[in-house]
Amino acid sequence: MKEVKSPRKPLLYYYCIVLLIIFLFNILVTPLLSQNQVVEVDYGTFMDMIDQQDIGVVQIEDTQILFTNKEETQAYKTGPMEDPTLAERLHDAGAQFGRIIEEPTSSLLGWFLTIILPILIFIGLGQYMSRKLMNQAGGKNALSFGMGRSNAKVYVPSTQGIRFSDVAGEDEAKESLQEIVDYLHNPQKYTEAGASMPKGILLVGPPGTGKTMLAKAVAGEANVPFFSISGSEFVEMFVGMGASKVRDLFKQAKEKAPCIVFIDEIDAIGQKRSTGGYGGGNDEREQTLNQLLTEMDGFEGNTRVIILAATNRPESLDPALTRPGRFDRRVPVELSDLQGREAILKGHAKKIKTAEDVDFHTIARMAAGASGAELANIINEAALRAVRGGRTIVNEADLEESIEVVIAGYQKKNAVLSDQEKRVVAYHEIGHALVAALQSHSAPVQKITIIPRTSGALGYTMQVETGDKYLMTKEEIENKIATFTGGRAAEEVAFGQITTGASNDIEQATKLARAMITRYGMSEEFDMVAMETVQNQYLGGDSSLTCSADTQKEIDQKVVELVKTQHEKARKLLEDNRAKLDELASFLYEKETITGEEFMEILKGGAQQ
Ligand code: ADP
Ligand code: ZN
Repeated sequence: MKEVKSPRKPLLYYYCIVLLIIFLFNILVTPLLSQNQVVEVDYGTFMDMIDQQDIGVVQIEDTQILFTNKEETQAYKTGPMEDPTLAERLHDAGAQFGRIIEEPTSSLLGWFLTIILPILIFIGLGQYMSRKLMNQAGGKNALSFGMGRSNAKVYVPSTQGIRFSDVAGEDEAKESLQEIVDYLHNPQKYTEAGASMPKGILLVGPPGTGKTMLAKAVAGEANVPFFSISGSEFVEMFVGMGASKVRDLFKQAKEKAPCIVFIDEIDAIGQKRSTGGYGGGNDEREQTLNQLLTEMDGFEGNTRVIILAATNRPESLDPALTRPGRFDRRVPVELSDLQGREAILKGHAKKIKTAEDVDFHTIARMAAGASGAELANIINEAALRAVRGGRTIVNEADLEESIEVVIAGYQKKNAVLSDQEKRVVAYHEIGHALVAALQSHSAPVQKITIIPRTSGALGYTMQVETGDKYLMTKEEIENKIATFTGGRAAEEVAFGQITTGASNDIEQATKLARAMITRYGMSEEFDMVAMETVQNQYLGGDSSLTCSADTQKEIDQKVVELVKTQHEKARKLLEDNRAKLDELASFLYEKETITGEEFMEILKGGAQQ
């Protein structure tokens, strides 16, 4: 086994620097701060204040949100939450984005901050570097100063009683984690059989699919303490801290065994190590990773400390981490299917009051591709919308609107589209819908709208598959490309002019056409040869080319050809159905939002076709 040296750093210097900073802070900054105390409030209060338009200035940071009341007489702070539409709502409530705590430029403080402090830090760093170069051996362990303590949050099972039943869907993942729970309950069964549990289990899957929840549920089911820390928390400002945090974490865990240690975003420390060279790698991260590996090797299989880790970039992990004896079991936590989505929606809907006629099956269908976290957000947005409407019961319309909010952003109330622009957008959207409807194997149109959204979309056509789809035929993909080009085609047919409105369509169509050739083997020329490999399958899926420059050129030509053919097909379809196009477009122009049924009614009624 590889010997891993434990990092010895002259931590005395960190200590001095920190002491100095604390000293300065105490003397100078604290009294200033206490003059305008920042009051900590909960997120709910913050939301209420937004709703009452009682926010003056707001400053959003990674770890907290600072804000003042309208009169700016009182400053508040609250913890951040996953809330993608926050900025938008703040803006709507008339809040100013800016800095809250303007340190009064007391000349003395300014002097210290701008002159003395940098000098001190400079001296400190210089000392540290020279020490490091001299390879000085006599550093003190960080722990003796109370630094480098792991800030893993410990959850006592009774207070955080998440159970498997709280995690909807994800049956396969639950099944393989059930074994761990069983082991923690009666380990002797396993030791008698000579079986040893995996020390580490890697939960892999896209963000928001419930990996953290599952880890907590394992602890909850086994009724053991749960330590949770994020990989990024190990990588700190001071060199050597990460490794000592790992050491401390494992020390705590062993004391509390049996227990679960959960390391979120393990890729933050577990990335492939660089292979030598100057300044290439991140020394700190490698030391932390090495420490983690040593710790995992260090404890025996029967310590009853189970390490769960989560990542959405499994391919970037260092192979040493996934070797037998470390994270040797991998549990995929994938996006839920239709049934799973329905279950998740229903689970979260228990927290709110819903009208009796709400059809979660349809909502789940509309939210194809949404993660558990997004579904939870959809429910919450719907509840917020109900409150805005002065209701306490959430109805179907709230949920549908909130899906659109999550997909496309809020309705932009005061966007001013000229009459002509509105007409173009109406034709554009009907173009998509009509091309889709006129081809076989296209997902039915659910809704078409030309109300601009804050995301920048001037309108959109929502198509919803009737069930989950796992396979697509070549024809279906081609039809989809044609549908994407339908918007632009309608503009051409109706106005003989084109606009910038199709930029997103162009992107999507190109992506699909490219994938057909490089990844799905759907072209004559290249047959079943992979021209691209997908790298980050859980995060958008960047792909990298695996072919020569010449071939790339050919691929590009082929992509153009493919899109062109479909574009022409779409234009032809619309020309042949010009009367319908006009009729539908003026209907949409009048109504601004029409349902799939209304659309089909007009399409079916009448002469052509
Ligand atoms: P991850 O760790 O995979 O990024 P989390 O476990 O943090 O995702 O999930 C975030 C939130 O999304 C959870 O707190 C929960 O509200 C919701 N959620 C995600 N997946 C599920 C699920 N399968 N069932 C119920 N809720 C879920
Ligand atoms: Zn479009």
